[in-house]
Amino acid sequence: MNKKNKLKIGIDIDDVIVNFIEPFLYFYNKKFKDNKNLSDCTSYHFSDCFKITKEKEFFLIEEFNCKKFHELELIEEFKNKINFLFKNYEVFFITARPLSIKEKTERFFEKSLKNKKYTIIYSVNYHYNNSYEGKSKVEICKSLGLSYFIEDNQYNALDCAKKGIKTFLINKPWNNNCENHNNLIKVDNWDEIMENLKNESGNN
Ligand SMILES: [Mg+2]
Repeated sequence: MNKKNKLKIGIDIDDVIVNFIEPFLYFYNKKFKDNKNLSDCTSYHFSDCFKITKEKEFFLIEEFNCKKFHELELIEEFKNKINFLFKNYEVFFITARPLSIKEKTERFFEKSLKNKKYTIIYSVNYHYNNSYEGKSKVEICKSLGLSYFIEDNQYNALDCAKKGIKTFLINKPWNNNCENHNNLIKVDNWDEIMENLKNESGNN
C-alpha cells in the first residue's frame, strides 16, 4: 500500500491499549477495604456500578491519576500488534483522558511507542462537559476521516458505527448490552481485531 494512501485508524487508550481497570480496582479496594472485581464493573462509569456520586468518582480518578499513573502499562497482547498497525495505518489515539494528565500521557507514549509517528487527540470528558474544544469522539473520528476505530465504550462505538466508521468494540462487562450495527464488530481481544483488519486489507 502506498504510504500516502494509508488508511486512518483511531484507537482509544484506556482498556483498549492500556490496562486501566485492574490497577484502578486494586487502588479502590485498598483505599476502601473493598473487594470489587471486573464483573462488578457493569457500567462505563464507576458512579453507576459502585453506587457513588459523580463527584466522588471524579476525585477518585484524579487521585488515581496523581498517585498511581505509573502503574499503567500497555496491554500485553497489544504489544506485538504495534508494528503491523504502524506499517499499515496512520494511527490516531483518541481519548477522553483529562488534560490534567496530558503531559504524563505523552511521556508514557514516547516511552512505550519509541520512534512511532502518531497523534493523540483529547475528546470531551464526561467530568468536564464544557472543556477542551468540546468535541465528542464521534465528531473527532468523523472529521479525521477514519476508516476504523477501536473502543471499549459502547456509546462512542455505536455513534461511530452509525456514522459509517467500521468500529471494533472490545467486549467488557460494561458494554455487553450494546445493540448491534452493521459497522460494529464486537471482539474479545486484539487477536480478533488483527484477524479482521488483515482480512479486510489483504495484508495477511
Ligand atoms: Mg476506554
